[in-house]
Formats: sequence, C-alpha cells, structure tokens
Amino acid sequence: MHIPFDNSYADLPDSFYTRLDPTPVAQPKILAFNENLAKVLGIETDDLNEAAVVFGGNKLPQGAAPLAQLYAGHQFGTYNPQLGDGRAILLGEVIGTDGIRRDIQLKGSGPTPYSRMGDGRAWLGPVLREYVISEAMHALGIPTTRALAAVSTGEQIWREQGALPGAILTRVARSHLRVGTFQVFAHRGEVENLKTLTNYAIRRHYPDAKGPMDLLRAVCAAQADLVTRWMSVGFIHGVMNTDNCAIAGETIDYGPCAFMDAFHQNRVFSSIDQQGRYAFGAQPGIVVWNMAQLATSLVQQFDDKDAAVEEATEIVHAMPKLLEDSWLKRFAAKIGITAPQKGDTALIEELLGLMQTDGADFANTFRALYKGSAQDQFANREAFEKWSEKWTSRLQSEPDAKAVMQTANPAIIPRNHRIEQMIEAAVSGDMDPFHRLQKALATPFTETDAELSRPPSQQEIVPATFCGT
Ligand code: AMP
Ligand code: MG
Repeated sequence: MHIPFDNSYADLPDSFYTRLDPTPVAQPKILAFNENLAKVLGIETDDLNEAAVVFGGNKLPQGAAPLAQLYAGHQFGTYNPQLGDGRAILLGEVIGTDGIRRDIQLKGSGPTPYSRMGDGRAWLGPVLREYVISEAMHALGIPTTRALAAVSTGEQIWREQGALPGAILTRVARSHLRVGTFQVFAHRGEVENLKTLTNYAIRRHYPDAKGPMDLLRAVCAAQADLVTRWMSVGFIHGVMNTDNCAIAGETIDYGPCAFMDAFHQNRVFSSIDQQGRYAFGAQPGIVVWNMAQLATSLVQQFDDKDAAVEEATEIVHAMPKLLEDSWLKRFAAKIGITAPQKGDTALIEELLGLMQTDGADFANTFRALYKGSAQDQFANREAFEKWSEKWTSRLQSEPDAKAVMQTANPAIIPRNHRIEQMIEAAVSGDMDPFHRLQKALATPFTETDAELSRPPSQQEIVPATFCGT
C-alpha cells in the first residue's frame, strides 16, 4: 500500500505530542473500507488484507510519523488541564487530489501517555456508529471528519456491558486541532508554544488571517455555520466539550450524538448529559461559550492584554448574530425561502412550535412540506392548515421554492434505532444492515429506501446514547 504522506504536525515542537507507534492487535480484519475517500487521499491499495494490517495498527506504512497529540479542554464546563489522544494515533498527513491537507488517524489503536484510566481501545459499536454517521454528514454536505476504514481487532475489550469486540476506526480530518489544543498551552502560560500553534493553525486552515484575532473571527464564522447546519438536519452532537470543537470547523467526535426523530428543542440523547447542557436547542449558546474559551486562550499571546481582550470580546459578542443569520438562512431554505425577510423567523418558529406540540418527526415533516403532504405529520391538522395558508402566501415571491426545499430537507437521516440495529447485527457478524444504511445515506436527498426513512415505532425508539465508547 502506498500512502503519500506529507507530514507537518510532526515538525512542530516535541511538547505538542508524544511520538509512539500503534499497539498491534491479534487479528486485524477489514470491516469497511472507503474506496472513494482513499482515491481523494491518493491512497493506492488493491489488497484489503494489507489494508487491515495497516489500519489495524500492525504495520506502519512508509512515511508515517506516528504520534499522540496533546490537548486539554472543558468537559461539561469543567476544565481538565490534560486530555490528549488517549486512544488515537496520528499516522501522518496527506495532500489529497483536491489539494486539501488531511490527517490520517487511527482511533482505538492502543494506550498512550494520555490514556489516564482508559484502555486505549474502542469497541465495534462506536466505531461503526462514527463510520456511518460521519459519512452520512458528509453526504448531507456538512463539514465533518470522515471514515476511511473500520477494522476489527480480534480482541475483546471490557466496557460496562461486559466483553465486546474491539475495533479501530481510521479517521480523516482537515486537522485534529481543537479549542483544547490552544487551551493547554494558554493555561500553562507557554506563550511561545501558543504562538507557534496559532501560526500553524492560520497557515493550515485560514491562510488569509493576519493574526490571532483574524483566526478567532474565522473559527467563530466556521463554527456558527457548522452548528446551524447541524440544527437544520436535527443533529444533536451531544458532547460539545472544547476538546471536541475543531478549529477547522468540522464536526468531530461522534460519541453520544444522534439525529432527532420527534422534534423537541430540549431533546437530549446522551445518557451523561443530565442537565441538557448539549440539548438540541442549547447548541448555539454552547458554541459561543466554546469560542469564548478559544478567545481567552488566544489573548494570552498579546503584550497588550487589555486591548486584545477588548477586541476578542467584540468578536465573540458578534457571534449570536452570526448564528441567528445562519439559522435563518438554513431554516428559511427548509420552507422554500431563499431571500429571508422580516417575519420569516416568526413563521419558522411557529411551525417548529406546532411540530414540538404534536411531536412531529423532524426530518419527515420538512420532507413532506417539500412533497406537499405535511398535514399528515400533525395531530392538530387545523393549526397546521392555518400556518400553511400563511406559508403559501409567503412563497408567492419564491419561484424556486420546490428546488430549494428538495436539497434542504433530506429524505433519509441515520436514525438512532437504525444505528443501534446495525450495531447489534454487526456484533453477531452480519454487516448487511451496515451496508444498507451506508448505501441509502450516500444519497440523502433522494428517496431510495422508504423503510429506513420511517420513524421508529413506540417499541423501536432508542431514547439514549451511551458514552461507554
Ligand atoms: P472523548 O469523550 O472521546 O472526546 O474523549 C475524551 C478523552 O478521553 C480523550 O482524551 C480521549 O482520548 C480519552 N479516552 C476516551 N476513551 C478512552 C479509552 N478507551 N482509553 C483511553 N483514553 C480514552
Ligand atoms: Mg474527544
């Protein structure tokens, strides 16, 4: 196998990471390999056995410079001064055929100096969950890390549920720089490292940025765009800690995330998110909080801290407006409006209110609006019809409404109960549900598999996701 590595992170100071190899596994076997992505990355392989050995961590590909990255982060609002890749190893970077530099990282590849109490491993469930959902996000047009390979290790690992089959995910990302990567140096007062990191992030992701404040502005814009895109498809990240907030503006860390079925602003899936800190409707507020942490870190590198704090505060304070505008753009498109006007926010919120009251299915209600059959989604049809009259008259100045709605309202999302069924099947050796989901989710704006678009029945609902990853 040839991987055209072109590493840059490994050239940063030693204090940014620990060099180490993945820990070999008993019996690596390919469960899934993303050939389309491999092509973009310029990876040539026709031998899946060799791919298993490489992406299982048993053989280092030529040109790799394996390392575990250091970072810190606020977890549920509490600062943890040292996290880092506790079960991931960056093999290196490649520049794809599209000219984009990306990390290739193994997740579940064995213990590192940052493992704390963990075993450095992952089990099959979360690996396949991340594979399917991250690729679905990509197909939905939402910035995300991607999945290149899933390998089973032939080893058992232990979680609360008992012994489970081990697996490794090969994750591809524009980078693994997080808000927490800045926090670790800022909190330690390592100003030189903070400056080096800032310059690296600018060069890699926002080359037009003239300095730390431009970088902050760019990340705020990228994150505002990202979070509103999530909301427009009913996605709940579930663990928006600052170590899971990527500087490049990609969705990262598919732990307890889920797509909502019945709409509710306060919907939470993660079993550990007792307070609803990361509930569906809380996400815009939280991303502002995360950007405030990035701002706090970035200002540490200025001599004139008062001036820097003032400018950074202004940038972060501008974010709610960015989020509002971006939210309006996304949700207006969902009801066929390309040029939002005064009053459209109220129109959208009224619809969401009706959906919440009736527990209407988020994805299917919007898809049905596009198809002209949304009344079936509401228990209170009369209220919906009233709203629909207002909506219809609003659409008179929107000639492209149908086309806009078709690509803003997916026909299929990775529903939580389908993900759980897929994992259950995979654990017993049946990968068919995985392939079926993957296939349908690859073209989310086309009806291809009606059964997978159906919301869960009462018995099928999987209301919670677990962090025992
Ligand atoms: P996450 O919840 O996946 O964002 O992980 C938070 C932190 O815990 C990161 O530093 C991870 O590397 C670490 N971590 C999570 N699971 C494990 C594990 N099984 N072994 C070692 N470290 C882990
Ligand atoms: Mg994480």
